[in-house]
Amino acid sequence: MTATPAHVWFLTGSQGLYGDDVLAQVAAQSATISDALAGHDGIIAEVVAKPVLTDADAIRRVMLEANSDDSCVGVIAWMHTFSPAKMWISGLERLQKPLLHLHTQVNRDLPWASIDMDFMNLNQAAHGDREFGYVQSRLGVTRKTVAGHVSDPAVLAGVAAWSRAACGLAAVRSLRLVRFGDNMRNVAVTDGDKVEAERRFGVSVNTYGVNDLVTVVDAIGDADIDALVATYADEYDVAAPLRAGGERHDSLRYAARIELGMRQFLVEGGYGAFTTNFEDLGGLRQLPGIAVQRLMADGYGFGGEGDWKTSVLLHGLKVMGRGLPGGTSFMEDYTYHLAPGAELILGAHMLEVCPSIAAARPTVEIHPLGIGGREDPVRLVFTAAPGSGFTVGMADMGDRFRLVANDIEVVTPPEDLPRLPVARAVWRPQPDLRTSTTSWLMAGGPHHTVLSTALDREHLEDFSEMAGVELAHIDADTTVRGFGRELRWNNAYHRLAQGLA
Ligand code: MN
Repeated sequence: MTATPAHVWFLTGSQGLYGDDVLAQVAAQSATISDALAGHDGIIAEVVAKPVLTDADAIRRVMLEANSDDSCVGVIAWMHTFSPAKMWISGLERLQKPLLHLHTQVNRDLPWASIDMDFMNLNQAAHGDREFGYVQSRLGVTRKTVAGHVSDPAVLAGVAAWSRAACGLAAVRSLRLVRFGDNMRNVAVTDGDKVEAERRFGVSVNTYGVNDLVTVVDAIGDADIDALVATYADEYDVAAPLRAGGERHDSLRYAARIELGMRQFLVEGGYGAFTTNFEDLGGLRQLPGIAVQRLMADGYGFGGEGDWKTSVLLHGLKVMGRGLPGGTSFMEDYTYHLAPGAELILGAHMLEVCPSIAAARPTVEIHPLGIGGREDPVRLVFTAAPGSGFTVGMADMGDRFRLVANDIEVVTPPEDLPRLPVARAVWRPQPDLRTSTTSWLMAGGPHHTVLSTALDREHLEDFSEMAGVELAHIDADTTVRGFGRELRWNNAYHRLAQGLA
């Protein structure tokens, strides 16, 4: 998938009282800060510096422009000098993009020997940002606050995480998701309110009959299939029966046909995410396996069994994690290793795990699938690479969406899994399996998740905050008692925060 251009606007607050000479210095110092941000690789959006703001009209106008510019994913504001905050009220009340309040100053050290009142009056973010913080809190403006000098890696990391979350949110806000078939019959947690999802996240979720896809799949030409089969041989170790001349080669060619058809359907429809349902395969001869896996690796969101919520989340997190080491995949908690003191979770899906998390070059294999009633599906098989990360799932609680997350450590499986014919991940949940699973179940977290070793909790927190969605995060410090209280408080807070509308 091609990345859309993303900008974050850098706003600097001051006031006319200082006079032109001082405002020229403010502008120069503003450029120093915005250049420092622009030069940091971790900030994935382009930093666009705006002229210093000194009055309410200009502030209101720049906020309205930020709202209407599709490439603007968020706004950073820094009160370089004293910027009386009543003049920010009108603009802040209108801003609909994520906001980061950067509390910094140009100089790291005070020039003790030469400091005079001119220096004091020029470098007073300590003063101006407090005024700005007050009015944001007074208005109830959602924002992230990052404090410190821009030479501090923690400051840059804080801005970088926010910029990734803002890009993820922007991607979800404009996301079109196609469901090939509906929800798996009778399943509760994968279902949900698609109208509310469009209202909260901006995502458009719509269903096509799976045979609309089959029409495209069946029309794919042999030359395109030849080329994709060659790509498979380049990128993976293809099992002997699937290779050219092998007795199951036709199955590989049909899997390639599915991938080409799906890709064409997604591209032509402008879709960034999709779902399938093994109960509803229409004229498809195989459950899509390698096709889904490779589309995920290219950034498409995916959820099995019609699970559009997980598909939305996966696409957003894929965008957030672009360029970071590690990977991000659709996942399902499958089964447990309950050896005392060495408890682990084995996650997989029927087929659809993204090779971005693979520890080594995947193999392409074909095996029977007990459910679905179709021909044996072709899939990539691998084990996930070790690393720290999280799992996160989205549940529709009826009155709101809730994200439930768990910090995890993906580990190398303690033993080989020679008879398991699917891609898998093995992880140790924080703080321990008992607390993790107890808390997860108390929160009503789903069995489908997104597993990421590319992102961390700060990305998730920034995303949930700017999306206005609940996040219940199980981490190394979680206790069941404390988590239960947090869920109760969250119920009260999120219901109150919605008001009576
Ligand atoms: Mn599933």
